Amino acid sequence: MIVGLTGGIGSGKSEVSARFERLGIIVVDADMIARQVVEPGGLVLEKIAEHFGKAIITKDGALDRKQLRSIIFEQPSEKIWLESLLHPIIRAETIAQLNSSQSPYTILSSPLLLETNQHELVDRVLVVDADETLQVSRASSRDSISPENIQKIMQSQLSRSARCAKADDIILNHGDLHELQDQVEFLHARYLHLAQQTH
Ligand code: ADP
Repeated sequence: MIVGLTGGIGSGKSEVSARFERLGIIVVDADMIARQVVEPGGLVLEKIAEHFGKAIITKDGALDRKQLRSIIFEQPSEKIWLESLLHPIIRAETIAQLNSSQSPYTILSSPLLLETNQHELVDRVLVVDADETLQVSRASSRDSISPENIQKIMQSQLSRSARCAKADDIILNHGDLHELQDQVEFLHARYLHLAQQTH
């Protein structure tokens, strides 16, 4: 059984993922895979450099993400080119990691689970939800992103109500970390039970 875990920026996805991992559950992280596929020395990075020119690689051999972001922001056709290169590779790697998981059930964590076709890979959807004020204050105290930029990211993501409407389970992250832990443990017991039934 695969549980898709999603939520807006600052909702508490990483905290929830870490708690499931501590309970022995494998968490496949879509963001991490997206970074791994363009790691230095890989074929994918080579293809990106062939297309955009060598200047897209920093002197450490890594992808210059900032420059790439500004190119694809200005030129939609380049965004399409890049996505058609990366998406099938990311999807194949995600499926490979999900298939190799040995835990009683597996979590696929992705901020854009519901905005992309990744939700096709999961049996149920778990949404971590928090009100926007909390999202902004938690995300801005974690990263050095301004509240305005967090608002912008939130606007590019599904609204809270649209996301929750697609959820099978919701963790409402309005309390402290103990309350979060209790909710994770409750769902873990439920998922173990469901995973046994589906076997
Ligand atoms: P996301 O991965 O959804 O962007 P995080 O899990 O990183 O969000 O949470 C954002 C920040 O808020 C982190 O610093 C995290 O430790 C903190 N945080 C999350 N949930 C709580 C909570 N219930 N109480 C206090 N801090 C929290």
